[in-house]
Amino acid sequence: MIKTLFTFDNPPISSAETASKSHVLLCRECGLEFEATHGGRRYCSEICRKANWSRQVQAWKAAHTTARIEFATCRHCLRVFEVPPRAAGRLPKWCSPSCKQAFLHPPAAPREPDMIDQLFADGDE
Ligand SMILES: [Zn+2]
Ligand SMILES: [Zn+2]
Repeated sequence: MIKTLFTFDNPPISSAETASKSHVLLCRECGLEFEATHGGRRYCSEICRKANWSRQVQAWKAAHTTARIEFATCRHCLRVFEVPPRAAGRLPKWCSPSCKQAFLHPPAAPREPDMIDQLFADGDE
């Protein structure tokens, strides 16, 4: 026999929850009672879940983007530039995409003839 393709890690279910399959909970977003069909539900609906989530995200952003101005030095033009307040992460290395481009791909130095060119040049008699 083929076993089930997917095995889900079931959250631990207490014996009380398994005894009564559904139970009434309070929605953490709107406070309404709702019948939870399985353990672990906190919100009466997807709408409430998303509303609560977006509020958490906003709170997090507010806490992490307190007009904290940072400065960084461009690796290419060495200009010190202001970094707009960001949620997280590293400081940018370049002040602009064009500086990044110029730094990573500097104008090509005079190209030495490569092997293939030489082969053809020498073998052409
Ligand atoms: Zn709700
Ligand atoms: Zn620059």
